[in-house]
Amino acid sequence: MGTPPRVIPRPEHNISRSNISRNALKVMYRLREAGYQAFLVGGGVRDLLLGREPKDFDIATDAHPEDVRRLFRNCRLIGRRFRLAHVYFGRDIVEVATFRASGDEGEAGADEALVVLDDEGRILRDNRYGSIDDDIWRRDFTANALYYNIEDFSIWDYAGGVDDIRAGVLRLIGDPEARYREDPVRLLRAVRFAAKLGFRVDPESERPLRELAGLLDSVPPARLFEEVLKLFLGGHGVASYELLRHYGHFAQLFPATDRLLDSEEGDPYRALLLAALKNTDQRVAEDEPVTPVFLFAVLLWGPVRLRAAALEAAGEPPIQAMLLAADEVADGQQGRVAVPRRITTPMKELMVMQLRLQRTRGRRVLGMLGQGRFRAAYDFLCLRAQVGDADPALAEFWTGLQAMDENARVAAVDSAARREAGATPTAEPADDGAEPASRPRRRRRRPRKRKPTGGAG
Ligand code: ATP
Ligand code: MG
Repeated sequence: MGTPPRVIPRPEHNISRSNISRNALKVMYRLREAGYQAFLVGGGVRDLLLGREPKDFDIATDAHPEDVRRLFRNCRLIGRRFRLAHVYFGRDIVEVATFRASGDEGEAGADEALVVLDDEGRILRDNRYGSIDDDIWRRDFTANALYYNIEDFSIWDYAGGVDDIRAGVLRLIGDPEARYREDPVRLLRAVRFAAKLGFRVDPESERPLRELAGLLDSVPPARLFEEVLKLFLGGHGVASYELLRHYGHFAQLFPATDRLLDSEEGDPYRALLLAALKNTDQRVAEDEPVTPVFLFAVLLWGPVRLRAAALEAAGEPPIQAMLLAADEVADGQQGRVAVPRRITTPMKELMVMQLRLQRTRGRRVLGMLGQGRFRAAYDFLCLRAQVGDADPALAEFWTGLQAMDENARVAAVDSAARREAGATPTAEPADDGAEPASRPRRRRRRPRKRKPTGGAG
């Protein structure tokens, strides 16, 4: 494919070394001193051209992974499907990839490097090394296929990426359908970059997005988990979510949630998802931490709540019902998006705490404040209250309680208990969490069996 690149010399672009991480520069200079080519590639170049701060800096070189390892003491080779060198600088990792060729061009790497496709044309293995003008054609979008040359600070553009970036267009290199089939994760990458960059997807690249959504079921669930995190916790969750729903990708990733969102019972959950994602985007913008536990609680809450209501109706006590439902829904999800146990376990806890937070009287209530998951559970409750999935008075109760000093807290839960005791002859009920917030006046007692949706008072 010997087309020469368009070379954009340093004076004609805005990428300055002062915006590239010191560690990435170090790696490139070292490679170059050793006689190799070294380019900054991918999102680093794209984001710098757009005047954004790149998430990370990826480097491409003609040095083989073993060569890279010899040059850097702090280097590890990773990946079998796709061999890469990781150079460590404390917590910062610079990823170094060797130029790759596709098809039967290119030289074999040291250890039986090969391109392996499955029956449907998916790439299972891609370790055939080549030169930069082979490498370019296996990148996904033109905007991601720009190379910044450390030798003279020019940008090499083989696929028209610079013009596409200036026009705000996301365009797959080559035949879009074939490229999506090769690696269906590119469907999600299209959505992610469109959402993140605010680009429109070129019509040719857009057309298959919906048609080929079904291919996502052939992607290993562990890889989809990684993509889901990038889609929803990358600061553009709302835009990503809307595009995923639009193209039918969300149905592939979260089938139970997707069905619920489209049903009559979907009402508060649509709003809950949007409110939570909006909140998450805001936090990312303000550099506040976000957690996958909260994200998956939000994504799965609807189906869990419905299932829990059904189990309760069949006689399970509320907490047990919630636990069973959360287990079922989380298990059902694993075949699509493999959510690790370190996330599902605290997620279930957060869900069960939604029931425990319904109790507002007696001193045991104060113990909730000290629990590890309290903050997340409280935030979740507030979101639910905001969209009509929980009693706003309940959220207010917990907001108020946190603002009080110790004495006032004791008085608050005691007087609530006295009021309740006066109102009902029975003492404190079993710890089934089914008690509504004790609110003066307006509050009526609710029947035990609440409708699963719309628990707002
Ligand atoms: P960001 O890091 O901001 O999410 P990025 O473009 O750097 O975006 P990475 O996943 O870090 O994305 O990948 C780096 C580069 O590797 C991409 O820009 C692209 O050129 C190439 N690449 C990554 N994944 C794929 C893929 N599935 N198919 C083709 N090329 C890919
Ligand atoms: Mg990157």
